[in-house]
Amino acid sequence: MEIDGNVLAAKSLVHFGVQHMFGVVGIPVTSLANRAVSLGVRFIAFHNEQSAGYAASAYGYLTGRPGVFLTVSGPGCVHGLAGLSNASVNTWPTVMISGSCDQNDVGRGDFQELNQIEATKPFTKLSVKASHITEIPARVAQVLDWAQSARPGGCYLDLPTDVLHQKISESEAEKLLTEADKNRSISEPKIERPLSNSKIEEAVSLLRHAERPLIVFGKGAAYARAEHVLTKLVNSTGIPFLPTPMGKGILPDTHALAATAARSLAIGKCDVALVVGARLNWLLHFGEPPKWSKDVKFILVDVSEEEIELRKPHLGLIGDAKHVIEVLNKEIKDDPFCLGSTHPWVEAISNKAKENVARMEVQLKKDVVPFNFLTPMRIIRDAIAGLGSPAPVVVSEGANTMDVGRSVLVQTEPRTRLDAGTWGTMGVGLGYCIAAAVASPERLVVAVEGDSGFGFSAMEVETLVRYQLPVVVIVFNNGGVYGGDRRRPEEIDGPHKDDPAPTDFVPNAGYHALIEAFGGKGYLVGTPDELKSALSESFSARKPAVVNVVIDPYAGSESGRMQHKN
Ligand code: ADP
Repeated sequence: MEIDGNVLAAKSLVHFGVQHMFGVVGIPVTSLANRAVSLGVRFIAFHNEQSAGYAASAYGYLTGRPGVFLTVSGPGCVHGLAGLSNASVNTWPTVMISGSCDQNDVGRGDFQELNQIEATKPFTKLSVKASHITEIPARVAQVLDWAQSARPGGCYLDLPTDVLHQKISESEAEKLLTEADKNRSISEPKIERPLSNSKIEEAVSLLRHAERPLIVFGKGAAYARAEHVLTKLVNSTGIPFLPTPMGKGILPDTHALAATAARSLAIGKCDVALVVGARLNWLLHFGEPPKWSKDVKFILVDVSEEEIELRKPHLGLIGDAKHVIEVLNKEIKDDPFCLGSTHPWVEAISNKAKENVARMEVQLKKDVVPFNFLTPMRIIRDAIAGLGSPAPVVVSEGANTMDVGRSVLVQTEPRTRLDAGTWGTMGVGLGYCIAAAVASPERLVVAVEGDSGFGFSAMEVETLVRYQLPVVVIVFNNGGVYGGDRRRPEEIDGPHKDDPAPTDFVPNAGYHALIEAFGGKGYLVGTPDELKSALSESFSARKPAVVNVVIDPYAGSESGRMQHKN
């Protein structure tokens, strides 16, 4: 019996552990997808490769195994670059596999021809081609291994049409798969080095002698499954902690040592900061004054040596976050220390946090109609709290919607928040929802999206309905990017001044009707009671739903928190 390249690619993916794939089929990869399904892979078919790529990247983050997505050649590959690049920037293990044109026709203007290796290279750790059917198993193993080894990221595998149509015997295919297995450890780049005792001792000494220590953790720590070791570290030392947006939930936001509500004080005044799996990039104000004290000593824990070299911290600990914190915990155990709740630093943070929470709660308590951002966010927060454990995965994007959501919504379990991330990528929402539903089937998925974020990939609500995924998408509908027309009078001029503003969408758009077109459930809400009832019904139904929440178009601010950059 002979098999072709499509079958061998599908067999290789299954052989090396792929259970789910995302993608858009067409020439020349339809047979690859069908074969993968017949071998037991769950293939989630999208409308656009961009969303499929976002889904694969979030799947990689949530499961710790590479998320794989499949595209057609040329334009399909180009659409997929959005997901691939976003994966690499977020350091999430992701593999894009694209069909490409026949190698014999390269340079002659073949159907959907593109030099896909060169196109993908700027966005990947590794871009490789299987130039002959016999190379397929080794190449599949290589991209899967590279995507998740060392600092995770995006990898690309190119499968030309002629290679997918070549044939070999089944026995030769088996031999190639066994060989690829044997060579796996060779192809995997090794970076993990033993941690030096002196560095661990220095880190513990810095924390022990600090007057105002702080532990910051991010999505790299969540990816590393460092929640248990970080909980132990925080609880044993009594050091306050600050999660980044996607680090929320590694320890519950409700923990007594959470400094989230006292963020400015915590980062502005700490003298030693242990930063675990989070970059000192824009999200953390580059670790520089005026937000941070100029004398703060950073201890950075990151799997990437390059990252540590870039930031030049006081002390860098290169390695897997879970492993490094485990070693720190062991070192502390021999000579324990704990700040205690009456320590002036802990008290200062706790008092400030309580004060800020109380102030926010006064605003949140008001039932403002037409809705501002706070009233519906409070109702969503309370409805989510009512679900208990397992907590839902919350997906969030949009300017004001994401900003307000980050401070109001409460995260109690790790890896339950997905948002625009390192790149501030809008349009990730539906892809992330689908990935979360597939990767964490025990959890409900609740998306809290601005109408512009939703619009990037709104057609994927059909995908939700087709696969009957337990996803409730709540759209904050304020009629545009940032909301209503906010132009100053002098900005409204020229021959097209009567056109809608560049920020405008159709007012009062019926987003709920979009999902109804495919047989899903839609809700249009404008009052607290309507929203409560829609959430109660849709959360318990665990079926695809869109809740269209009409917001005052002039609530919130332009560009949310980033106004100074617009
Ligand atoms: P956040 O957006 O939460 O601030 P970042 O994406 O900026 O987080 O930073 C995550 C960091 O975590 C990256 O620098 C990445 O290299 C690092 N990282 C990824 N995996 C691990 C791991 N297993 N252990 C430690 N660090 C990791």
